[in-house]
Amino acid sequence: MITSRRHFLSTSARAAAGLAVAPTFASILQSCTSDTPVGPTGNWVELANALKGMLVMRDDIDFARLNTQYALAYLSEVPEAIALCESEADVVACVKWARANKVKIVPRSGGHSYAGYSRTTGLIIDLSQMSGITYDAATQRATLQGGAHNKEIYVAGRANGTSITHGRCKSVGAAGLILGGGIGFNMRDKGLSCDGLVSTRMVLANGDVIRASATENPEVFWAVRGAGGGNFGIHTEFVMQMFSVTNVTWFQVQFEVELERIFDVFQDVALAAPPEFGCKFMLNASRREGEHYLYVDILGQLEGDEAQLRSLLKPVYDVAAPSFEIIKNLPYWDAQEHLSVDGSPEYAHERTRFAFDKISAEGRDTIFRYMREWPGTSVDAMWKYFLMGGRIKDVPNDATAFPFRNATMISSIDLEWQAQDSKVLAANFAWLDAFHAAMEPYTSRNCFINFVDRRQTNYLEAYYGNNLERLRAVKRHLDPDNVFSNPKSVPL
Ligand SMILES: Cc1cc2nc3c(=O)[nH]c(=O)nc-3n(C[C@H](O)[C@H](O)[C@H](O)COP(=O)(O)OP(=O)(O)OC[C@H]3O[C@@H](n4cnc5c(N)ncnc54)[C@H](O)[C@@H]3O)c2cc1C
Repeated sequence: MITSRRHFLSTSARAAAGLAVAPTFASILQSCTSDTPVGPTGNWVELANALKGMLVMRDDIDFARLNTQYALAYLSEVPEAIALCESEADVVACVKWARANKVKIVPRSGGHSYAGYSRTTGLIIDLSQMSGITYDAATQRATLQGGAHNKEIYVAGRANGTSITHGRCKSVGAAGLILGGGIGFNMRDKGLSCDGLVSTRMVLANGDVIRASATENPEVFWAVRGAGGGNFGIHTEFVMQMFSVTNVTWFQVQFEVELERIFDVFQDVALAAPPEFGCKFMLNASRREGEHYLYVDILGQLEGDEAQLRSLLKPVYDVAAPSFEIIKNLPYWDAQEHLSVDGSPEYAHERTRFAFDKISAEGRDTIFRYMREWPGTSVDAMWKYFLMGGRIKDVPNDATAFPFRNATMISSIDLEWQAQDSKVLAANFAWLDAFHAAMEPYTSRNCFINFVDRRQTNYLEAYYGNNLERLRAVKRHLDPDNVFSNPKSVPL
């Protein structure tokens, strides 16, 4: 569908409704200059006509809004067009047309790639309109269209009293989440997001559509559970096994004193905690009246009651009283509303490493030293870990392409800034890189594909580990011309 005409009509409709000085049809036509959106031209017309959804060209009125994604640092790579697909047939049409016309393509669902890898200078095949979810109570399975987001999972889960292992950010796409493994507070009890995948439909580089499950294309099914989005094809459907949810106790506690001891004691508590406990530990660097200061912020949930959570946290409270505390037992989805974030676009860069053990005292000192030496931007910086373990490792490491099930945690450095911080960016990135390198001895050379990082140089080892050759074989089979690729994807 061609967009410019749609905008033209809506403008006319607004004018006709008296919302502005109503121009005549002739005057509208007269006012069309060469700057007026003209919609698709040349071969793009053929694609626009083949689509049910809209094809938004660079000069279209909606383009700037649709071009904006989470990672603001990478918006300068501008596509020629964005196809807002409304069906699998639209996705097929985009792939076939782009191949025939030698236009680069990339799929986009939630647009939350940390590295901006759902961008191209060619055609973005956007699935965000395909966000429907249906639920089958008999099997407790949900069928997600390829462009569903966490926010639609929240709505569907609430309606059915079920969930998957979802993320906290409502605008993250289920596609990126599931394909890269998917972490969330449920993972230690229910497994990674990809562990709930029953089957998926994919549009391949030649336009064919296949289904992958334990029984259909099982090697593809293995590969798409953990190797990350953008590698093998465009997923248009995910059938997920949901699990029932009731109440959880969610919490957020902060500490401003005895931080090193809080770090040590909480780490021991967390590593020994039952699978029903999920958490994220954050050491924040901030500025108060110009002074640099650190504080600890711990966020998470327990499938249990408040007394059980308080008993779990007691060793930490014995070190120091929290400066801030919320602990509440609530119905599962009410609790998630407190734990969730919107995920608006921002300037940010995360660098991760999987840890396979406890972080040693030397590692802890390294973290605190770097956080105290943070050069500073106008936004806080953070070192954090996502607690893994529990039942994640009950699934054999080679059962899916998520290669690091034995990890205890994901360590992550989070640098954020704003446009006005350009003068201090070089110092901040030097700090980020030095900190990331300094963490290797205390964690590993392995990194989390869902937090894909343009600066990660050993990326084949970092993201794919021992799965690389097996993934390459799947890649050669499904996408021999490397149509679906980004700088960190599985190579041929
Ligand atoms: C604020 C924020 C919070 C986050 N929280 C979590 C979290 O709690 N847990 C977690 O695991 N991760 C989390 N992430 C990471 C997130 O899961 C990944 O960035 C994920 O890749 C985003 O998926 P998306 O569909 O939103 O992104 P997109 O940018 O649309 O896509 C990401 C990659 O997948 C490809 N892709 C997109 N759609 C498809 C498709 N339909 N078929 C095939 N490939 C596709 C893209 O080309 C790109 O390479 C978070 C990220 C952000 C920015």
